[in-house]
Amino acid sequence: MAERRRLVIATGNTGKLREYRELLAGAGVELVAFDGEVDEVGESYAANARLKAETAAARSGLPALGDDSGVEVEALGGFPGIRSARLGPTQEERTAELLKRLEGKRRPWKARFVCVLALADPGHATQFFEGECRGEIVPEWSGAAGFGYDPVFLVPGTGKTFGEMPPEEKRLYSHRARAVRALLESGALVRRSA
Ligand code: IMP
Repeated sequence: MAERRRLVIATGNTGKLREYRELLAGAGVELVAFDGEVDEVGESYAANARLKAETAAARSGLPALGDDSGVEVEALGGFPGIRSARLGPTQEERTAELLKRLEGKRRPWKARFVCVLALADPGHATQFFEGECRGEIVPEWSGAAGFGYDPVFLVPGTGKTFGEMPPEEKRLYSHRARAVRALLESGALVRRSA
């Protein structure tokens, strides 16, 4: 059997890592988690994704995937966006803070999740892939699946939050699954993994 090519995945978020392992199963690559923390100082998802991917690629000498994601709420002018991971010390507090800022605003609280992936390979230009998922923030927390804001993100037409969906259902809609699909369809992974 051919040896699987190695690809570094630059995230310290266990929820995201679990999803990438599932989304890239069958892609013919062996995922290697990169545990070095990188400060997210960029002003866009792409800038942060690039920073994570290029740092991991430079340190490992292997092709690396970095990502940045967030939730954007229309009634808050797109907030928290790239600041989604920094709204509070724990995810529970971040979700509570988001709901607090929405109190009194007219529903539906339209929102979208965004994910930008950067594929970095020493000696090549970094490539980017994006996915989004449109939905609605709801005040009641439902479901314990997934991570992050999943329990308060309602997916239109399903009657469920991401928190109520098993992984195989979340991937039908999720921003991360869509970004991974764009990456796989581009063929870049086949060319760039080592
Ligand atoms: P970062 O991409 O590591 O900067 O983190 C983005 C933050 O956005 C996460 O910590 C979550 O709070 C939130 N987020 C991103 N993707 C998802 C998702 O699929 N479900 C729920 N929350 C998410």
